[in-house]
Amino acid sequence: MKPLVDPFGRTFCYLRLSITDVCNFRCQYCLPNGYKRQTEEPELSQSEIRRIIHAFSEVGVWKIRITGGEPTVRSDFLDIANTISSIPNIRKVALTTNAFRLAQLAKDIKRAGISAVNISIDSLNPEQFHQVTGKKMLDKVLAGVDEALNVGLSPIKVNVVLLKHINDHELDLFLDWVRYKPVSVRFIELMQTSDNKDYFNHHHLSASVIRDRLVGAGWVRAQRESGGGPAVEFKHPEYSGSIGLIAPYSKDFCASCNRLRITSRGALRLCLFGTANHPLRHLLKSDSQKEELKEEIINLLYRKKASHFLHDGQVGNMANLSTVGG
Ligand code: SF4
Repeated sequence: MKPLVDPFGRTFCYLRLSITDVCNFRCQYCLPNGYKRQTEEPELSQSEIRRIIHAFSEVGVWKIRITGGEPTVRSDFLDIANTISSIPNIRKVALTTNAFRLAQLAKDIKRAGISAVNISIDSLNPEQFHQVTGKKMLDKVLAGVDEALNVGLSPIKVNVVLLKHINDHELDLFLDWVRYKPVSVRFIELMQTSDNKDYFNHHHLSASVIRDRLVGAGWVRAQRESGGGPAVEFKHPEYSGSIGLIAPYSKDFCASCNRLRITSRGALRLCLFGTANHPLRHLLKSDSQKEELKEEIINLLYRKKASHFLHDGQVGNMANLSTVGG
């Protein structure tokens, strides 16, 4: 099968599928005022999702990440996961969640064919967690991590948006946690979107601060996994878990781009910070449109740019990360 390749020779095996833009959290850097419906257009139906994943699976995509908003707020979330994991050529199905339902759903999530889970935890301090997310749910979220480990979901990755003056002092807390917890904690540089400029200017911190502390403490860089995301992983012999860094502002961050995104309304985003949503929904009406859909996807790849242009202050047309699941 001919892989999906862009004009820069990058191969795309990984698709991030947003199944809803609804989220029940109010993270300060994303939805500080909570979720507000932006459109009357309904979210992708299960048959539309089956058709779009089928098409991508026949042009070289084998890893699907189910994202949101918060994907587990959709009542048919497990059915969607089942549908995706049963499609031939799809070898890996992962989930990104804020884990508010993870403790109760972990077993069903595994049974639905999801193997890997990314969980957003911006602080291990209950008050700080509440301040960032607007929710007093740290205990529930941590119970979700433990249950996910118990049922054998793996790998378990924890996403921490690195926030100056808020959680940048918590590295030791997270290090103590991964000494015995076999999870990968990844510090993600705060990214500017079209509506968080002031917050970004006040709280953005380069991940190099964390990197220097890790290297200084004997952590060593680990191999990147096949189909892996953008994280640079570090390991230490005395720790069960690992630490990852996702640094979109770092040099050559986009050189290894391997992922595309589908919004919850069926549009293709060639880049997280792109300026366009390329509608595909008109090609999801019947199974007979599959070849036309595959051709459209292959043609759209020619429009992919070499990188984001965040350094030039170009943040694209994305109001907040919940619209495309980061
Ligand atoms: S910013 Fe865009 S080009 Fe860069 S890695 Fe992310 S999706 Fe790819």
